[in-house]
Amino acid sequence: MVMGELVDEVDVAVVGGGPGGYSAAFRCAELGLETVVIDADGRLGGACLFEGCIPSKALLHVAAVVSEAERAREWGVDFGEPRISLDQLRKWKQERVVGKLARGLASVAKGKGVTVIGGRAVFEDSTTLRIEGESLQKVRFKHAIVATGSAPAPLPGIELRSDRVMDSTAALELPEIPERLLVIGGGYIGLELGTVYATLGSRVTLVEMTEGLLPGVDRDLVQPLQRRVEKLFAAVHLGTKVTALREAGGHVEATLEGQGAETFDRVLVAVGRRARSRGLGLEATGARLTERGAFVQIDERCRTHDPHLYAVGDVTGEPMLAHRAMRQGKVAAAALAGQPAAFDNVAVPAVVFTDPEIAWCGLSEAQAKSQGMETKVAKFQWAASGRAATIGRADGLTKLVADAASGRVVGVGIVGPGAGELIAEATLAVETAALVEDLAATIHAHPTLSESLMEAAESLLA
Ligand code: FAD
Ligand code: NAD
Repeated sequence: MVMGELVDEVDVAVVGGGPGGYSAAFRCAELGLETVVIDADGRLGGACLFEGCIPSKALLHVAAVVSEAERAREWGVDFGEPRISLDQLRKWKQERVVGKLARGLASVAKGKGVTVIGGRAVFEDSTTLRIEGESLQKVRFKHAIVATGSAPAPLPGIELRSDRVMDSTAALELPEIPERLLVIGGGYIGLELGTVYATLGSRVTLVEMTEGLLPGVDRDLVQPLQRRVEKLFAAVHLGTKVTALREAGGHVEATLEGQGAETFDRVLVAVGRRARSRGLGLEATGARLTERGAFVQIDERCRTHDPHLYAVGDVTGEPMLAHRAMRQGKVAAAALAGQPAAFDNVAVPAVVFTDPEIAWCGLSEAQAKSQGMETKVAKFQWAASGRAATIGRADGLTKLVADAASGRVVGVGIVGPGAGELIAEATLAVETAALVEDLAATIHAHPTLSESLMEAAESLLA
């Protein structure tokens, strides 16, 4: 890059410094391409590091410790009532967890020679970006990678601007532990952050519009979580909508369809996320958006309809997960460098970090059937696992879905503590087209929860 000029000229301009953007930029730099990242916040990490995966998992770890201490009473160990210092908790999350990782990313960027520019980027045409930061700047590029991510979706039809109505970003700041918290949306965020607040002491009421928590996820996996959540939360209303929110006397009054009005101290709105594809000047390029969701349309090499533009991550659609964004980032970098690369992964694992955790990859039983596949399905209950007994958690389940004709493992679902770690082996099995026999004949350390995969596989061979 030629510094000091009005217009910077680079090989690759990455717009957005989240996991999709920084993974792409790092790979581009490794491939010898001069690369800049333009991020509105002037730092690498994006929603994942500053307002998503990382802070939520730090708080969920704290919640898990509190829950485990409660469970320990059953085993004759009593730590007493937890005393929570919110200031210290916020400081730990912000400085020791998020801050440390942010500094790490900044130093990796420096080491690889990736320049980070702070400011909002807008496309002027297919090879030029205008950057609206402290000073106006232009970047001319051979290729750009759009990685602008997503933002919380507002509650349709309800307009109440109040500090008491939070999105996930505000809720992760832990402004207080409200006495009564209404969570709207029984998806990933509603369940994860609902768990955090309920464990820290809030009376949580969750309202989910559809007839079940985590719509679309295998009910065999959701059931144990639902049982736990019904105990942990004050109330769970399924098939219910919030029709009005009104601030009154320092509280929020919510009208729940068919249930009347209830008063809460705070509300968390977690009804999905939407693509950040507007206001980016994409209309000045050849890139196209989908009609539903305004996602940037891409092919398997992450190319948009404009030969200069690639796109990765949440802005390209579901599943909006950091690890998918990262993989796409690497694919886009290799593709624009002319290497053979495609986002052709068979399995994108998903993990809901609740207690118990839910994780899955590949095809669910229902998806396999809807594709006309004849399946063999094993369900291994953790009640029969030695390891589950030693940690006092018999409430887990490992479910294996295999193609009856070939014996290939096509999908796995796990519910139970540590499911998020266990799904890695399952994802490798699905991705590498492992056979049920392969899982059954692989020695799994005893006693571990990973044996549940082997046991499930063995039961299909019996
Ligand atoms: P983002 O991380 O959203 O980054 C986009 C970046 O682009 C941002 O820094 C933004 O400021 C910048 N930007 C936007 N527009 C412009 C512009 N015009 N100019 C310059 N910069 C711009 N996923 C998981 O896999 N696991 C989890 O545990 C998990 N937990 C989550 C918890 C919460 C509460 C939330 C909200 C999300 C969670 N996610 C999780 C989802 C994950 O955060 C996203 O999938 C991931 O961050 C997407 O990465 P991305 O690179 O596409 O975009
Ligand atoms: P979500 O799509 O997971 O869940 C939204 C829920 O809100 C759904 O169950 C939906 O039926 C419900 N809903 C929609 N409108 C409603 C209304 N008006 N009233 C009541 N319920 C309503 O979305 P989210 O929880 O906001 O999370 C957004 C995305 O962020 C996720 O889809 C996921 O991609 C990502 N995320 C991932 C993780 C993880 O990987 N562990 C954690 C958090 C977020």
